[in-house]
Parts: sequence; C-alpha cells; structure tokens
Amino acid sequence: SKQIDVKDLNIYYGDFLAVQDVSTTIAPRSITALIGPSGCGKSTFLRALNRMHEVIPGAKVKGSVELDGQDMYGRGVDPVLVRRKVGMVFQKPNPFPTMSIKENVLAGVKLNNKRIKKSEAEELVESSLKGANLWNEVKDRLDKPGSGLSGGQQQRLCIARTIAVKPEVVLMDEPCSALDPISTLAVEDLMAELKNDYTIVIVTHNMQQAARVSDKTGFFNIEGTGKPGKLVEYDETS
Ligand code: ADP
Ligand code: ADP
Repeated sequence: SKQIDVKDLNIYYGDFLAVQDVSTTIAPRSITALIGPSGCGKSTFLRALNRMHEVIPGAKVKGSVELDGQDMYGRGVDPVLVRRKVGMVFQKPNPFPTMSIKENVLAGVKLNNKRIKKSEAEELVESSLKGANLWNEVKDRLDKPGSGLSGGQQQRLCIARTIAVKPEVVLMDEPCSALDPISTLAVEDLMAELKNDYTIVIVTHNMQQAARVSDKTGFFNIEGTGKPGKLVEYDETS
C-alpha cells in the first residue's frame, strides 16, 4: 500500500480539457470515493493513476502522479510496470469467459511472469480467492468457467485477478453499478478488508456508498466552479 500524490494534473482529449488542475494526496490504507455527475471527469482522473490514457487516441496527460514519491510518469518508467502496481477493476465484471476460475485468477500474473511454478500458482489462486472473499464459494469448482458465476461472484473474481498481481493500489470504476444490492454489500465489505493492504480509489454514482465505504470523498464538479473536471475534497472523518 502506497501513498499517491497527484500534482497539477490536467487531462485533455484533443483540445478538450476533461480534468483541470487537480492536486491531491491519497493516503495508503484508505478508500477514496470519486463522485459527481456523468461526464465530470471521474473515469478520466482514475485512468491517469495507472496510465490507461496511453491506449486512448487523442488523450494527453500533463502533471505527475507519484507512488511513495516515485513519479509514475517519470522518464524511463514502463507503463506496464505502472499497471502492475496500480490495478483496475471495471464496472462490468469481465472475467475471460472461456477460461476457468483458476485461469482467470492467474490471467494477469501470466501476462507478467509466464514461468510461474504449478505449486506457486495453486497457492496464489487460493490466497487471491481468499483475499477476494470468494474461496469458500468456488474452491470445489476451480476448473469450471468463470462465466458460470453470479454477477457479484464474477466481480469478486475480477478483484481476485487484480490482487493476484500484488499491486499497491486498486482502482475501481463503478464496481457495484452492475450488481444487485446484496452483491453490492458483499463487495463493499470486501473493500473495507482490502483497505488493510491496498490504497483504494473508487468511482461511484452512489452517495450512500461513498459515505459507507470511503475515508475521503472527492467531488468532481462542472457547474459549481464553472470549470470542467475540478476536484473538491471532503473528508468523511472530520
Ligand atoms: P465520468 O467518468 O465522470 O462520467 P469521464 O471521465 O468519462 O466522466 O468523461 C469526462 C469528459 O471527457 C466527458 O465530457 C466525456 O465525454 C469526455 N471523454 C471521455 N472519454 C473521452 C474520449 N476517449 N475522447 C473524447 N472525450 C472523452
Ligand atoms: P463512464 O461514465 O463510465 O466514463 P461513458 O459512457 O461516459 O462511461 O464512456 C464510455 C467510454 O466511452 C469510455 O471509454 C470513454 O472514454 C468513452 N467516451 C466517452 N465520451 C467520449 C467522447 N466524447 N468521445 C469519445 N469517447 C468517449
């Protein structure tokens, strides 16, 4: 778990400024929720934290994002390494449908380290599924396809796949928007546990969820300031 320091972040799509002059610090072992109307720049901000904009045509990021003082945009820093340190979970659970549960957990790890030993892989599958509160539900069906799980289980499988890579930071872009209320609460409980090991940043449309899970909420504002993508912070604990 590492501290994130964002300095003078401006993000453009062509000439359009989607996130403007954001500087903020996100503490290790904390959950920060980003909230605000659709189109205000939440996802755009989140993607800057793991250099996802590099795969979006026309996107341009200015400023810096540091993890414990190391600039993720620094000269010579490999974006692949950044994405290993800063994992991402998406709105729609996206396990690889033709892969088994076990293969899904290992998918991200194998991208980085093809020569993982069988015993090591099995331990990692177990510890990651335990870490995602999914082990008890799937331990007898690890070779069955991930697509056979419920939506909430699939999302926890995606979280297991993300933490199997042993990141420092976990980003979640509306991780519960596609889930029913019970599955949502299960993922919220999981977030509270993951906070012990990771720095967590979530995007949510749900004010109650932000209040329930987060230590700090960042409101992206368009109208209030008359500017696009301005961040206003609110500390839940004060
Ligand atoms: P939010 O996540 O808050 O809904 P986004 O970060 O997705 O907002 O979008 C912020 C603004 O940037 C919106 O006006 C959106 O239309 C625009 N935008 C997002 N992605 C792109 C893109 N790939 N190309 C051009 N404009 C984009
Ligand atoms: P979200 O609110 O979750 O960001 P959107 O529906 O706004 O989702 O965007 C979905 C996808 O479309 C994103 O990958 C975003 O980058 C892209 N997108 C959004 N707005 C634009 C735009 N004006 N031009 C091109 N791509 C866009």
